[in-house]
Amino acid sequence: MERCPVCRAALNGAETCRRCRAELQSAIRAEREGRMLVDAALHRLSLDDTGTAERLLRRALTVHATPETRVLRRLVEAWPRRTVPSS
Ligand SMILES: [Zn+2]
Repeated sequence: MERCPVCRAALNGAETCRRCRAELQSAIRAEREGRMLVDAALHRLSLDDTGTAERLLRRALTVHATPETRVLRRLVEAWPRRTVPSS
């Protein structure tokens, strides 16, 4: 998180905004978790595991939605998928 979501002041890595004193720990944690989920989704995509990638992206969107994650989810939804052989 580069800027305070409340007042847009630069944060420079701080977890409390020095302008408006907003406590941003939980927002920063959500952002980090969302990014980890997107990374995991990209990893699953590289392994051709579109179903898991889609689930991870859906979770990322509930944790911390970004325009990039939304676009990625739309792409994955349109991804040609393999039919999973039933065992
Ligand atoms: Zn602020």
